[in-house]
Amino acid sequence: LGARLNGALSQFSKSSSVDDAAIDALLKELCSALLESDVNVKLVSQLRARVKAKVSAALKPWDGQVNTSQVKKSLEDAEKAGGREANKKNVVQKAVYDELVALVDPGTEPYKPVKGKVNVIMAVGIQGAGKTTTCTKLAVHYQRRGLRSCLVCADTFRAGAFDQLKQNATKAKIPFYGSYTETDPVAIAALGVEKFRKERFDVIIVDTSGRHKQESELFEEMVAIGAAVKPDMTVMVLDASIGQAAEGQSKAFKESSDFGAIIVTKLDGHAKGGGAISAVAATKTPIIFLGTGEHLNDLEKFAPQPFVSKLLGMGDIQGLMEHMQDMAMANPDRQKDLAKKLEQGKFSIRDWREQLSNIMSMGSLSKIASMIPGMPAGMMEGGEDEAAGKLKRMIFITDAMRQDELDSDGLIFFSFDKEGNPVGLNRRARRVAKGSGTSVREVEELLAQARMMAGMARQAGGQNGWMTAMNKMQ
Ligand code: GDP
Ligand code: MG
Repeated sequence: LGARLNGALSQFSKSSSVDDAAIDALLKELCSALLESDVNVKLVSQLRARVKAKVSAALKPWDGQVNTSQVKKSLEDAEKAGGREANKKNVVQKAVYDELVALVDPGTEPYKPVKGKVNVIMAVGIQGAGKTTTCTKLAVHYQRRGLRSCLVCADTFRAGAFDQLKQNATKAKIPFYGSYTETDPVAIAALGVEKFRKERFDVIIVDTSGRHKQESELFEEMVAIGAAVKPDMTVMVLDASIGQAAEGQSKAFKESSDFGAIIVTKLDGHAKGGGAISAVAATKTPIIFLGTGEHLNDLEKFAPQPFVSKLLGMGDIQGLMEHMQDMAMANPDRQKDLAKKLEQGKFSIRDWREQLSNIMSMGSLSKIASMIPGMPAGMMEGGEDEAAGKLKRMIFITDAMRQDELDSDGLIFFSFDKEGNPVGLNRRARRVAKGSGTSVREVEELLAQARMMAGMARQAGGQNGWMTAMNKMQ
């Protein structure tokens, strides 16, 4: 999906004039990509209509027509950035971006566990959806963020359910509760939660049974467990591979256990994920995480804007930062001063190089790579080899740099006019491109990435001279 959306947009941005034909072609490709990944037909045609309406409202502002302030603002921003065609392009791209975000954003905030109180989370979903696995992943996730987490197994239906949870929990060093003899899931859930409440755990995660399908007994059981443990958040675990069926399944669960968040699992396989998008719309419930593998670390935070950014190849700097910090926690020796550097707002090209080589050594390249701006999301589909290839080229670029260049913030690669405005890349940049067997364009990309990291580190949101410089040059 990412590759196609990305392709459609870059095709569009290359077109010389922005007429109805160009916009229609873009929308057509966009919609067929969405449909192919199992997004509900109605949602897709809605999206199409809304993008069209936004664009045509925006492109006729000089007819004295009323314009929404948001569209006006994006037009004004675009005006500053370039000419009239560029304006139009920006308006169209922004409309597409906003509508894609709206597609995965139900407009309700999910519950966020807070330290200092006991947060009870209950997982629901059908058998095999990935509840038990996801519960453990969640516990690990919160534990890493300093919230003492534990697991309660309230699945007495499936043989070996407790053993499975016990095994997962032990592996992850997470305290757990369950019983081999008690057959009433409500009693176990209540006892387990009570025990951990007394012990003042921050996060108590209750895993439930799924049975085979959406039967009324299952729903009754969920209602009873919910009443017994009073969850702060109920999470529906949804298997992405069920495709279009996700919508009906989530609706059925919503009626019995009013879940406040969705976790979509098995997105690492051939599943397309569009069904989950339809489930969000049908239940007006936000997705909070994606499961992307069987390993305990295969859990990705989900938020609408970064998701769409990544999808369109715009990266997710915030997510990347968080990931780097996670890695630092897992590998204190290798990354001991990263946090300090970030705090001090110091981040050189050498630091970026170090992060890149850490990413290379940590595996799951394609997932992380899509967080880096300028790395097409299509790489996720292209797989590990493509991601590794691209990351290697970036490291080659830094290998061709001299010491002073590595220690710089990157401005050293630009030439400036008398007023101090950058007018382009200089001979150093061309030397590095040549020396690394890459292109000046790729060097520029790497510099932009390093700089964005520095910008984030500084919490200045890129409000520094360099960023302005990049914008002026385009
Ligand atoms: P439950 O019945 O809902 O508790 O589901 P389980 O947690 O037992 O998971 C069912 C199967 O799906 C197991 O083999 C898991 O390893 C697998 N699984 C769970 N989440 C993921 C995921 O995100 N990706 C992949 N590939 N497999 C997963
Ligand atoms: Mg289970």
